[in-house]
Amino acid sequence: NKSGKTPRRPPKKPSNNQKDPVGVYCRVRPLGAEDEECCIEVISNTTIQLHAPDGLKANRNGEFKETQYSFKKVFGIKTTQRELFADVAKPLVEDLIHCKNGLLFTYGVTGSGKTYTMTGSPGQGGLLPRSLDMIFNSIGPYQAKRYVFKPDDKNGMEVQNQVDALLDRQKRDSQTSVPKTPTTRRIDPEFADMISPEEACKAGEVDEDSSYSVFVSYIEIYNNYIYDLLEETPFDPIKPKPPQSKILREDQNHNMYVAGCTEVEVKSTEEAFEVFWRGQKKRRIANTQLNRESSRSHSVFIIKLAQAPLDADGDNVLQDKSQVNVSQLCLVDLAGSERTSRTRAEGNRLREAGNINQSLMTLRTCIEVLRENQMCGTNKMVPYRDSKVTHLFKNYFDGEGKVRMVVCVNPKADDYEETLLVMRFAEMTQEVEVARPVDRPICGFLTHRLEERGGPVDGESPTVLNQLLQSFHPLPPCEISGPNDDVTLPRLIDALEKRHKIRKLMVEEYNKTANMLKSVLQEQDSNLLSKENFIQEQRGRLGEKDKMIQNQKNEIDRLEKKSKMLEYKIDILQKTTNIYEEDKRSLQHELESREQRLQREMSEKRRMETRMQGIVTDAKLKWEKECERRVNAKQLEMQNKLWVKDEKLKQLKAIVTEGKTENRQPQRPSREKDKVPAKRSVSPSPVPSSLSSLEPIYNFSQTVRPDPHFPRPGSVSVASCISEWEQGVPHSRRQGSQSPPDSRKRAQGLPDSLRRRRGRCWAREVPVQPAEVDLEETGHWVSRTGPLVRPLHRRSHSAGGERWVDHKPTTNVDLDTVLQPNIPNAIKVNAPNEKALSKCDKYVLTHQEFASDGEIQTKLIKGEVFKTRGGGQAVQFTDIETLKQENPVAASRKRRSSETGPDGEPMERNWTNVETRCSVAVEMRAGSNLGPGYQHHGYPKRRKP
Ligand code: ADP
Ligand code: MG
Repeated sequence: NKSGKTPRRPPKKPSNNQKDPVGVYCRVRPLGAEDEECCIEVISNTTIQLHAPDGLKANRNGEFKETQYSFKKVFGIKTTQRELFADVAKPLVEDLIHCKNGLLFTYGVTGSGKTYTMTGSPGQGGLLPRSLDMIFNSIGPYQAKRYVFKPDDKNGMEVQNQVDALLDRQKRDSQTSVPKTPTTRRIDPEFADMISPEEACKAGEVDEDSSYSVFVSYIEIYNNYIYDLLEETPFDPIKPKPPQSKILREDQNHNMYVAGCTEVEVKSTEEAFEVFWRGQKKRRIANTQLNRESSRSHSVFIIKLAQAPLDADGDNVLQDKSQVNVSQLCLVDLAGSERTSRTRAEGNRLREAGNINQSLMTLRTCIEVLRENQMCGTNKMVPYRDSKVTHLFKNYFDGEGKVRMVVCVNPKADDYEETLLVMRFAEMTQEVEVARPVDRPICGFLTHRLEERGGPVDGESPTVLNQLLQSFHPLPPCEISGPNDDVTLPRLIDALEKRHKIRKLMVEEYNKTANMLKSVLQEQDSNLLSKENFIQEQRGRLGEKDKMIQNQKNEIDRLEKKSKMLEYKIDILQKTTNIYEEDKRSLQHELESREQRLQREMSEKRRMETRMQGIVTDAKLKWEKECERRVNAKQLEMQNKLWVKDEKLKQLKAIVTEGKTENRQPQRPSREKDKVPAKRSVSPSPVPSSLSSLEPIYNFSQTVRPDPHFPRPGSVSVASCISEWEQGVPHSRRQGSQSPPDSRKRAQGLPDSLRRRRGRCWAREVPVQPAEVDLEETGHWVSRTGPLVRPLHRRSHSAGGERWVDHKPTTNVDLDTVLQPNIPNAIKVNAPNEKALSKCDKYVLTHQEFASDGEIQTKLIKGEVFKTRGGGQAVQFTDIETLKQENPVAASRKRRSSETGPDGEPMERNWTNVETRCSVAVEMRAGSNLGPGYQHHGYPKRRKP
């Protein structure tokens, strides 16, 4: 019943309860490579079968059986784009032209053919270009002039008057005459020939009394932000502005729309597709610039068809906004439905991917809740608002419109698990029902019809009443000529009858209209009621939301408190850490310093060790020498004793053999001899003390000449001693007993010390029978073998070329004495030999001994070398230099003790030591068969004053 006025928009709760399920179609794309494993089989044109790939089956013990899924229709790999369009999109385009909304989306894993299905490729245009083509094929001739329809900013459509539209057109032409001539310019090869002309489609019925206009918008939803792909922003190549996101709004009819979204009026398929391609390019550029993947975004192409009745004369669109009808078809290419892990996204990308999955998840949840509400009669809230995609299409699900989904699948085995999820979602989606859009005839259509019929539309309108009245035939003249006026009366009766009939008709019409109005009013009432209910419901929801918000606020408060506490804790921990760190640092520092100290002590210890070792070896050497000396001394003493005993024995023998009278004389010397050793053994010689205080002018001349007859010191035997004594001693004894007074007399004029020394020399000389002892003015004594060689014979000292024999016994110890004797041009010897002496005129003996304080002291005993007449060499000692190391602490103490010692033994030792050494040197002389050195071995202690 198309009579009567219907409201422009149907109420949100449709009056008819007819619903259609969401149309879900499945498209299986061909395998990328023929040898790939396939996991999908098309069983019939409504069913496919999924079987788990071999690897997966093995892994899960074959727990996955084949599963079948049914759809409204299944399109196999051979399906052409045209076939698909005919089945899936064509009805939606038909609906669009008949003022009904439609939603078509493609769903599936990346690479499953969503974009191929929606957009297609050259020669194989997808659903989108085909839909555009069909629209323009259908409404082409009935399109309104550009800018007659003008979108307001609230998702509505206005009708401009002719003049304004013309002005707008002129403006556009002047602005974009050169670049924008899409009809003349052959379009981008990328989208040229999307649809071949022979494939063109056309809608069945098109109201020719209406005027049409097509507007397209193209948006992208990425990471839950909406971007307008057709927005013309002045491009700044230096600093490109990032795209601004858009927000969703609800218009007065509770339809969601993208606020401020560009709506481009297009007049042909080419123009529309060019606009689409422009958006596509922009999308690609943005994706490259912002480094994002297009497979993660949803693209939404919205085709809006505005239609309005023509005015009475059929030339122009009726200037009435309320007469404009707008329907829209949304073509959505959803993001890939794969899980995040598959895309191997990281960091930011992961968050983005998460959001994309989130929006698909929300879609899933919405569909689930819708299905549950519809099947179980529950009234759960559908979370459309959780994502932009679902929010934007909310009206399709809870309002009216056709919803169709093409599930794209790639049969390759790799996608098996993802495909399984897609299938489950698709199956569920099919169970959701969406209200079928009601037929909405346009008022303009009605007007035409009524005008043509000439019937009244509105009784109250005076113009219409007048028209009606005028359409009545005028009453014939009603002047009755008489009662038998047969002409006038029947004519009048006839006219009145006619009028009566018309009146009856009018009453009928009136009643009918009244009834209609009544029903409309009732309908309005019910609408009002339902609106009120809706408002009530919304209020309830609002309350719920408020409660939720309150809860969340509380939760936020709690979390804030918690975070504050944690921060406080962190602060404390930080401080503790700092303290510990400081402790650690100081301990480390201490450790380091201790280690350094340890190292220092270790090195000190090592140094001490080496020093102690040196001292030990020194001491050892010292003591070895000391022992040697003592042994020597003891040996000499023993030899002396032996000699004395032998002497006594001899005397006894003489007594025994010669008789008592003859034996008188030798007794005395024997007594004298007796005394000597005893004296020596008892009291030490005081000479060293006087000698040490004297100038070191103790000369000792010797003749060094190897004598084979001279006995070696080591091989001195008692027999040889006796024989020597027997040969030489009697003379010396005689001389000794007589000469000393002479000598003493000769030395009388000398100083005391010299006299003492002279005495010593004398005493020393006593046993040297063949030698002549001569005391010179210097106080030197010289012992000679043979005639003395005068100092005149000294070698020439001219040119300063003194040559030294540097005698250093091997037993000498190397000391750290700073002042070491350095004699240039010297012949160094360990023992003096004649060859060396013959070459030199000076002799020095480096002699070491223990000083009174126990330290080693070095004496340089110097002498001059003389040639003896016999051709040998004689050394006259002229000087003694003493080098001595002193322990600054111990020296004074030791010296004092040695000086104050009751027996002065250290002195004696020193003296004895020099004596020993000298005697050793003397023992080596050549020449005389009676060695003076040997003699003096025997009488060192007789020099005691
Ligand atoms: P999606 O948009 O789902 O990521 P596409 O539509 O980009 O996938 O498809 C991936 C590739 O597969 C494209 O090269 C496309 O040409 C090809 N393709 C997809 N579906 C088909 C089909 N039905 N027939 C032939 N090629 C297809
Ligand atoms: Mg794609």
